[in-house]
Amino acid sequence: MPEVRVRFPPSPTGYLHIGGARTAIYNWLFAKKHGGKLILRIEDTDTERSTQASIDGIIEGLEWLGIDWDEGPYFQTEFAAEHCAAANKLLAEGKAYKCFCTKESLDAKREAAMAAKQSFVGYDGTCRNLTPEQVAEKEAAGIPSVVRFKVPRRDGMVSYDDKVLGLIKRAYNDIEDFVIVRSNGKPLYLLCNVVDDIRDRISHVIRGQDHMTNTLRQVLLYEALGQPVPVFAHMPLTLDLNKAKISKRSHGEIVAVQFYKQNGFLPWALLNFLALLGWNPGDDREIFSREEMIEAFSLERITKSNSIFNFKKDDPKFFTDPKAININAHYLRTMPVAEIASLVKGELEEAGLWNPTYDSDKKEWYLKTIEMIRERFHTLKDFTTLGRAFFADDFTIDEAALAKNVLKHPDLKTWLPLLADRFEAADDITAESAEEIAKGLAEDLGIKPGIPINAARAVITGQIKGPSMFELFAHFDKATVLKRLRDVDRLYV
Ligand code: GLU
Repeated sequence: MPEVRVRFPPSPTGYLHIGGARTAIYNWLFAKKHGGKLILRIEDTDTERSTQASIDGIIEGLEWLGIDWDEGPYFQTEFAAEHCAAANKLLAEGKAYKCFCTKESLDAKREAAMAAKQSFVGYDGTCRNLTPEQVAEKEAAGIPSVVRFKVPRRDGMVSYDDKVLGLIKRAYNDIEDFVIVRSNGKPLYLLCNVVDDIRDRISHVIRGQDHMTNTLRQVLLYEALGQPVPVFAHMPLTLDLNKAKISKRSHGEIVAVQFYKQNGFLPWALLNFLALLGWNPGDDREIFSREEMIEAFSLERITKSNSIFNFKKDDPKFFTDPKAININAHYLRTMPVAEIASLVKGELEEAGLWNPTYDSDKKEWYLKTIEMIRERFHTLKDFTTLGRAFFADDFTIDEAALAKNVLKHPDLKTWLPLLADRFEAADDITAESAEEIAKGLAEDLGIKPGIPINAARAVITGQIKGPSMFELFAHFDKATVLKRLRDVDRLYV
């Protein structure tokens, strides 16, 4: 294979969309797999809609995901002169021509062609064969013009072999002479994109199927410019359960990479999830290390059909695709604790719950806490919400735990302080001694041990479930255990 050079060319008109991120991921994987280069090119030709905030957001999102590029960012606007030069070259070589038709006449002709049910309703070539004198005359008269590409009028098909979709072709005669330069002198995106890919020596264009409407015309441009046509691979779109394109307008923040960063996703977990939206390794693996994914990736295994982003808007438990949440939970629970500890630190800092002793005296306690509680967690956010009681005193008690395990038994108002007294009297609380004390108290009171134990879980951790309560009695510092048990009173108001 010749040198692999791929590109990610976002238009900076908004946030980094997960669909865009997936395009970047596939290009990145392909470059890594073949020892190639990934070029980041910001396609900012649409100056009215491009913003610096969007450029910053895209770069930040890629960096967060861990997608590194080898060249760029290049900016399309910096190459405006080259885009014009290419259009002029095509004009000079008779491969493009100036068209002076007015919008009104074009519309009228199109309507008439449609009414007559003609198979070809594109531009009829009125200006295709104007003589240089006729062109000069119209220009002298100040008639505005666009530049159209002269599609070769010959039998046969223009085609390319799509790495995902196979042979794509169309008769030359079915393609109209398309515009490449607007009447204001600005080359169209379609042409700029090709000129940039030629300059950047792009070998493979891996992009969404939504760009396929351009591709055959772009193949014609490569040929007319005397350049080799890159390999194309068009990826399926990502749709929602109703088969509609996912967009911020319809689906909200969940379509932006930033959302996942803000909602406790691990970057590699999101990357892993997105990679599987429209690609599979040919077996049923779903969890990959970086090296495994690079090794497994191939364009041929990108799926032909559209991928479904499984998002049910009104289900609070699944605030995004459950598969994304599950993959995130998998990494959260299996990553080396030392690695996840720094990410949890970030969360705690943001929530104002970080205590510098977690990095010194209480480091062991901190790491053990993470190890104990992460088993049930799905995102980093859970450490400061579901796990809040481990790091702060101002936590709320889960409603079900409060109703079922505390309020149902008014006698707990005295039982839990009694338990506190027994803990206080004990020298050292270990999981074993805590079990003995709690069960001993239940026996003395003639109640099931589960009653004080479940209530203690609610008032100490705020949760209805979790790690062994005996271990937790030993894990929390004694003063906290005693205080939370004795404070039970305040809950019965
Ligand atoms: N700038 C285009 C986009 O953001 C990408 C075009 C391409 O990949 O050729 O959708």
